[in-house]
Amino acid sequence: MLDCAIIGGGPAGLTAGLYTTRGGLDKVTMFEKGMPGGQITSSSEIENYPGVTGEISGMDLMMPWPEQCQKFGLKHEMVEVTRVSKEGNIFKIHKGDGTVDEAHSVIIGTGSRPRRAGFTGEEQYFGRGVSTCATCDGFFYKGKDVAVIGGGDTAMEEALYLAKICKKVYIVHRRDSFRSAPNTVERVKRTANIELVLNSIPEEVYGDAMGVTGIKVKNSEGVIRDIDILGVFTFVGNDINNQVLIQEDGTFLCAMNDRGEVIVDISMRTSVAGLFATGDMRIAAPKQVVSAAGDGAVAALQAIAYVDELLSH
Ligand SMILES: Cc1cc2nc3c(=O)[nH]c(=O)nc-3n(C[C@H](O)[C@H](O)[C@H](O)COP(=O)(O)OP(=O)(O)OC[C@H]3O[C@@H](n4cnc5c(N)ncnc54)[C@H](O)[C@@H]3O)c2cc1C
Repeated sequence: MLDCAIIGGGPAGLTAGLYTTRGGLDKVTMFEKGMPGGQITSSSEIENYPGVTGEISGMDLMMPWPEQCQKFGLKHEMVEVTRVSKEGNIFKIHKGDGTVDEAHSVIIGTGSRPRRAGFTGEEQYFGRGVSTCATCDGFFYKGKDVAVIGGGDTAMEEALYLAKICKKVYIVHRRDSFRSAPNTVERVKRTANIELVLNSIPEEVYGDAMGVTGIKVKNSEGVIRDIDILGVFTFVGNDINNQVLIQEDGTFLCAMNDRGEVIVDISMRTSVAGLFATGDMRIAAPKQVVSAAGDGAVAALQAIAYVDELLSH
């Protein structure tokens, strides 16, 4: 019986592993289906992790994290978790190899995946001009022209963020109205260096060996326009990796919002006692390494208190 099972080995899961083991829980296992480190390991550069200066890739940032956890006794199992269920006070961790482990508490941090917009060149230039995170990559386009794809809240907020850094921001949106909050749309319209390219979809992003140099957009009449930009930021939705919470009857183990994010309180507690959710998969997540790590620490401290209380009876 584990004191705590951690599902996912990204910044949230690894920090939860560090704090639970160092904070006194003896039997903690982190279940990660791939190499630990999470989605940031696919980023060629990260500039906003506090205290880490100089050029560093996501892979290099995350490299020492597992070793630091192992020093305090965290066990790591490389396996996909298929489902987490709860019977009485005991959580069952159903694994891809058909075996089931048991735990007093569970911290889940399985992350999210930004959806792809689906235009030509999107994969080819991903990380070399195509991005899904303005907070992460906007600074690389300081004083340059960029395009934002999408018309929801995230697209609008990220366009406003980019407009403060970049020379010009084109918002390419397939409709002529926005799903975003009206006051956000007003702020976008009042921003002098944002141009709205409406009723238009991205056809192709092209470039050279250095990265993206332009985008072809097609409007509803079929007219193609070439726009010179060096960066393309796509915000067409996010898929939360919440499959492990789906029960045999198709319901979720804990309360979720309509976007598939886990509802948590300020202590990362879900609606199920002993189950904590962290990082990109929880409601209102800033979707940053530093916040995911912070969530992992908060959840770990709560899990320690929960297990102490449970075992004292
Ligand atoms: C290209 C790119 C650039 C980015 N740049 C920055 C940046 O500059 N600064 C910044 O702060 N943030 C950046 N981010 C965002 C940052 O990576 C995420 O916010 C952060 O990694 C979230 O951490 P997490 O632990 O919640 O989830 P993740 O990092 O997604 O980790 C989740 C882990 O869970 C594992 N997992 C999922 N399902 C299962 C399962 N069923 N069983 C077992 N394991 C499972 C996954 O393999 C993964 O390792 C970037 C993201 C991307 C993709």
